[in-house]
Amino acid sequence: MSEVFPNREIWFLTGSQGLYGPETLQQVAEQSQQVADRLARTGLPVRIAWKPVLTDAAAIRRACLEANADDACVGLIAWMHTFSPAKMWIAGLDALRRPLLHLHTQANRDLPWSTIDMDFMNLNQAAHGDREFGYIQSRLGVTRKTVAGHVSDPAVAERVATWARAAAARADLATLKLARFGDNMRDVAVTEGDKVEAQLRLGVSVNTYGVNDLVAAVDATADPDVAELVEEYQELYRLAPALRAGGERHDALRYAARIELGLRGFLEDGGFGAFTTNFEDLGGLRQLPGLAVQRLMADGYGFGGEGDWKTAVLLRTLKTAATGLAGGTSFMEDYTYHLEPGRELILGAHMLEVCPTIAAATPSCEIHPLSIGGREDPVRLVFDAAPGPAVVVGLADLGERFRLVANEIDVVAPVAPLPELPVARAVWAPRPNLRTSTEAWLTAGAPHHTVLTRALTTEHLDDLAEMLNVELVLIDAGTTMRTFTRELRWNQAYHRLAQGL
Ligand code: MN
Repeated sequence: MSEVFPNREIWFLTGSQGLYGPETLQQVAEQSQQVADRLARTGLPVRIAWKPVLTDAAAIRRACLEANADDACVGLIAWMHTFSPAKMWIAGLDALRRPLLHLHTQANRDLPWSTIDMDFMNLNQAAHGDREFGYIQSRLGVTRKTVAGHVSDPAVAERVATWARAAAARADLATLKLARFGDNMRDVAVTEGDKVEAQLRLGVSVNTYGVNDLVAAVDATADPDVAELVEEYQELYRLAPALRAGGERHDALRYAARIELGLRGFLEDGGFGAFTTNFEDLGGLRQLPGLAVQRLMADGYGFGGEGDWKTAVLLRTLKTAATGLAGGTSFMEDYTYHLEPGRELILGAHMLEVCPTIAAATPSCEIHPLSIGGREDPVRLVFDAAPGPAVVVGLADLGERFRLVANEIDVVAPVAPLPELPVARAVWAPRPNLRTSTEAWLTAGAPHHTVLTRALTTEHLDDLAEMLNVELVLIDAGTTMRTFTRELRWNQAYHRLAQGL
C-alpha cells in the first residue's frame, strides 16, 4: 500500500499486564495485531507500526521515550485490550511528547452469546481496561483524541485517518522554516505576531531575508529554464493573447517565469516550506510575484501576503494535512460583500495570490495593472473557486496566546460572471448566515487573511488545535452570538489558567 506520508508512522500500543499469563498475552498480541492491520487496510494516510504488548511501567516509559526520539513517529494509538493497571502508565504518559489517540475498541464485533465463558470475558476487557486508561489520562491532563467503535465501522477509520493527517501536519510544522521577504505591511496590526512564541508553541522558525537576495536569484535564472517554464504555462493555462509568444506583453510572462524559478530555487536551497512577500518592499523586483506565488502554493508551499507569516504557516500546515485529498486549499482574504437580503455572500480574493488548487476550471493567465506597489503589471492566474462545502480559518495572536477561528462555509458559483475583475476569487455563503458569521468573526478578533480549504473538515482543525494546544473557536450552522460570546470568555479564563504563572 502506498501511504500519503511515506516517511511517517503511527505507533500502535497495546496495554495489558503480566497477570494474564503467556497464553492469554499471546492471544492479546495476535488480536491487537489484527486490529492494527485492519486499521491500516482502511487506507490510513500514515503507516501503522505495531509494537509488542506492554505489560509493565518500564516498558511503557521506554516506548514513550522512544516515540519522542523517533522523527518518523508522528503519533501513538493506544488500546487497552485487557486491563492494564494505569499507574504503570504514569511515567510514560508524563514523558510523552507525541499526539495520542485513545482507540476504544475490541477484537470481536459481536458477543458470542451462545459460547461466551469466563475465558472470553477475561480476554476481551477493553470496556473496563480503557476506562482505567481514560482515568489516568484525565488525571494527568494528557491531551488526546478518543475514538470509540469497532474497526470495521467506517466512521472509526475515518476519524483515525483525520487525526493521523493532523499528526503528520503537526510533525511538519514542528520543523518548518519560513522565509519572509521584507517585514509586515507598515502599520497593520493583525498580521503581526510573536515569532518566538510561535517557535516555542508550534515549532516553526520565521526569519526575514533581504528581498534583494531574492532579486539576485531571479536575475541569475538561465534563459533556457525560463523558456521551458513559459512552455509549461502555455500547456497548463489559457494564456491571454498579449502574453503569448510574439504578443506585446510576452516579456512580462518571461519575467514572471524568472520570479518563479528564482523563488523556487531560493526556497529549495534553504529548505523553506513557507514564505511571505510585501508589496511595499520589492527591492529590484520588477513585478509583485503573482503567478509564481500561485504555483508555489499549488505545490504545497505556505504563503501570506503583506508579510503575514502566521497565515503562511497555517496554509502550509493545512496543505500538509490535506496531502492527496481532493478539494484544494488556498490563501484567502475576505474582500467585499453581497448583501442582498436572503442571499448574502462573501467575495474572497487577494491582489493576486489565490491558489489554483481551488479553481473550478482551467485558470486563465492574464496581465493587468496593479494600483499598489508601483511596479510593472504583474502576471496572475484568474479563476472562480469550485463550489462546495469548505472551511475558512484564521490565526490571530492575542498577545498572550494564539487563537484559531474557523467558519464552515459553502462556496457557490458567482451570482453573475465577473468579467472586469482581474483576480482569482471565491464566493461563499458563511454558516449559519452572514450576519452571525461576521459578528462572531469580528468578536473573536479573527483576521482578514485566512486559509480556505475544501479538502479538510473542522474535525481536522479540531485535532490539530488539540495537538498544538491552541484555542480553536468554530462558527458553524449551530452558532449563536449568545453562546459564542460566552465561549470566548470561558476560553479566555481556561487558557489563562492552563498557562499557569
Ligand atoms: Mn491582504
